[in-house]
Amino acid sequence: MSDPRALDILQRVFGYESFRGDQQAIVEQVIGGGDALVLMPTGGGKSLCYQIPALVREGTGVVVSPLIALMQDQVDALTELGVRAAYLNSTQDWRVAREVEQAFLAGELDLLYVAPERLLTDRCMQLLDRGRIALFAIDEAHCVSQWGHDFRPEYLGLSTLHERWPDVPRIALTATATAATRTEIAQRLALDDARHFVSSFDRPNIRYRIVEKNEVRKQLLEMIRSEHEGDSGVVYCLSRARVEETADFLCGQGIDAMPYHAGLSPQVRAANQARFLREDGVVMVATIAFGMGIDKPDVRFVAHIDLPKSVEGYYQETGRAGRDGLPATAWLAYGLQDVVQQRRMIDESPGDEIYRRRLGQQLDAMLGLCETVECRRMRLLAYFGQQIGPCGNCDVCLEPPQAWDGTVAAQKVLSAVYRLWKERGQRYGAGHIIDILRGKVTDRTRQHGHDTLSVFGVGQDLSETAWRGVLRQLLAQGLLTVDHEGYGTLALTEGSRAVLKGERQLMLRREPEKKARSGKTAGGRAKAAVVDLPPELQPVFEALRAWRGEVAKNHGVPAYVIFHDATLREIALAQPDSMEALSRISGVGARKLEAYGEEILQRVARPVL
Ligand code: ADP
Ligand code: ZN
Repeated sequence: MSDPRALDILQRVFGYESFRGDQQAIVEQVIGGGDALVLMPTGGGKSLCYQIPALVREGTGVVVSPLIALMQDQVDALTELGVRAAYLNSTQDWRVAREVEQAFLAGELDLLYVAPERLLTDRCMQLLDRGRIALFAIDEAHCVSQWGHDFRPEYLGLSTLHERWPDVPRIALTATATAATRTEIAQRLALDDARHFVSSFDRPNIRYRIVEKNEVRKQLLEMIRSEHEGDSGVVYCLSRARVEETADFLCGQGIDAMPYHAGLSPQVRAANQARFLREDGVVMVATIAFGMGIDKPDVRFVAHIDLPKSVEGYYQETGRAGRDGLPATAWLAYGLQDVVQQRRMIDESPGDEIYRRRLGQQLDAMLGLCETVECRRMRLLAYFGQQIGPCGNCDVCLEPPQAWDGTVAAQKVLSAVYRLWKERGQRYGAGHIIDILRGKVTDRTRQHGHDTLSVFGVGQDLSETAWRGVLRQLLAQGLLTVDHEGYGTLALTEGSRAVLKGERQLMLRREPEKKARSGKTAGGRAKAAVVDLPPELQPVFEALRAWRGEVAKNHGVPAYVIFHDATLREIALAQPDSMEALSRISGVGARKLEAYGEEILQRVARPVL
């Protein structure tokens, strides 16, 4: 049975015509008092799944979120919709906190956001005891997973909610979950009777591309300039130093870039984050410390200039692009050095053998994605247990790489490594091995007499780049390994033998030839305008955007809290001439219609003849 109240709220308050995917079923489950575990990709529409039941059910919906810095924006966005929302966290003045508490007790709040450590205090528990709770929403529920990349110990305490308030429905939500993580979430949060809602994880508007790394900063700049000039984006790096140097580099090239990592002071981080959220066209260069819960809808690209540690993390990070459903790019540059570095980090990481093995498996899955000759999206979704056909919107689908028989090349590499070790007791890194294969006379080859090895110069048929590709793929496939002693030297593995002995044929991936001309390649659209509109409507859209910027500034909120680009685009296209027509646009709810309707109509009005 569908609940008419839920649909009414969706349309009237949020201004959306219909539910998406599992939303309706989830909302009804929670309205009916049942528990739910919701897995939906970023941008799938999780918030409505608890916001609507909180509005329908009596009492206040308590939202547990680890993201203190974003609570203000979440509350502002709800307030713009006419929903009564507030938050309690440590950044607040105690007087303000007391007002919020009073409002809660008086039943004047639809939604209350609380950080987990705050929620679990005696004071807060007692407060909740005295009021009426509509539901508990546990956002970013994967934070309870100890194996995951966002583990928060406070989350473990949340299982007590059920013991204390057995009749209050709980809904746990996350955008990251393999089957294993899902089981772990259900277990740790004691969601024994919860219905599981697993959506498709596909994000068809994101174009996935993984390129071979050579001069990564130049490649990044080229990608931004040719496809995303003036767009908002995120560039992920592995280390703080790399964040700083990359942000500096981009700024030097005239791109509005800012750094974000855990080494910056909380004030600087908050200021940079606020600028990213509030202004158009800012590029955030960050470690993975940045991004969880950032619901900016118009991030047009997410770039990784270092190899991510797991597919789960990678998918979560790239999912921050294109939440508004408009075209977006996920771009990753990856090379030999990444594999060496990550393998070494795993070897040196603290923790026991099981832990390291787990990290190794995660890395292998990531490498498999990078080296695949199949559709990237197929691989990604398969990782989450979902099946699709080739997507037509990833680099592999658009410009298929060639596969070539790399058996002989691999044998040359492996026998060079073997001979150096067997005959000389020496191990070297990739660069030197390639020099030997290509017969390059360097100080080192001469000094160590490596020019007398039988493998010296046997690899002149391939370029240095091609050899790096071979070595990278051998490492990725575990046919070559980084020596445990460190220094990035290479050693054979169990699997090497079969290749050396010619018992195993090895197909390798060759990058498609670079197109000389940039812009219109698989790289995507040559950039013309912010959104896809007929040229004569561009000025209308721009006028609406300028107006939105003003309003957002006056209200002290990010522009997308007023209206999304997608909504402005639809207004520009439809050119509504009455409040009634305007109300039919997706994203225009009752409150916003009342507050901004007249102003918008004026701005799209065609001159009367
Ligand atoms: P998530 O939290 O899953 O990443 P959000 O809740 O932020 O996603 O929703 C993503 C975007 O989709 C938001 O801009 C939201 O307003 C929009 N959205 C959600 N549900 C609907 C719907 N039923 N119809 C239209 N837009 C929707
Ligand atoms: Zn594809």
